[in-house]
Amino acid sequence: MRELADGVWHLSGFPPNNINVYVVGDVLIDAGIAFDRRRILKQLAGRDITAHALTHAHFDHYGASHAICETLGIPLWCGAGDVAAAEAGKMVAPGGRMVPGPRAHPVARALREGDDVAGFAVLDVPGHSPGHVAYWREADRTLVCGDVMWGYNPFILMGGVREPFSFLSPDPGRNRESARRLAALEPALVCFGHGKPLRDPAAFSAAVAKLG
Ligand SMILES: [Zn+2]
Ligand SMILES: [Zn+2]
Repeated sequence: MRELADGVWHLSGFPPNNINVYVVGDVLIDAGIAFDRRRILKQLAGRDITAHALTHAHFDHYGASHAICETLGIPLWCGAGDVAAAEAGKMVAPGGRMVPGPRAHPVARALREGDDVAGFAVLDVPGHSPGHVAYWREADRTLVCGDVMWGYNPFILMGGVREPFSFLSPDPGRNRESARRLAALEPALVCFGHGKPLRDPAAFSAAVAKLG
């Protein structure tokens, strides 16, 4: 794994930057798809990880969460609005119905706006999922933004910063509001759920402004 900012690590994966997993301090953020269990555990070996937090409860962000929490004996945390999905092994689809997701796991802590996670403030940024959260460290303007915006199109591994496809978000309008909120922070470093880390606040704002 590679250090992106003080205490912020990006795990390697293949294809690179496609399904992103981070470590901030002693907290694992997101856990990819079920298949990512081995690559994550391998890279965490020898590190002191005390908790696992999600940006949101989608299959490509909590796919390996159950296995990793069990193996490491650590608690799972996620945004309050996504607790029901994570604990049921489901995801909230457009229209609000629950569709099958990865293996369920009990959530030990429901995260709320302003909570502290390893020196990052929790921001409620719903829309792409009901309980989507981002993690923000004002001191060096580092943002872990999950899927509020994508660094590129993860299906074709190309393209610029964009919003997630609306058929993946239960409330795309609300997600745009969340994106505007994040752009207004002018993050110096954006760590996306999908796509390369971005150190270009103007590019991030421009992509969000284009959404209208
Ligand atoms: Zn997602
Ligand atoms: Zn995703």
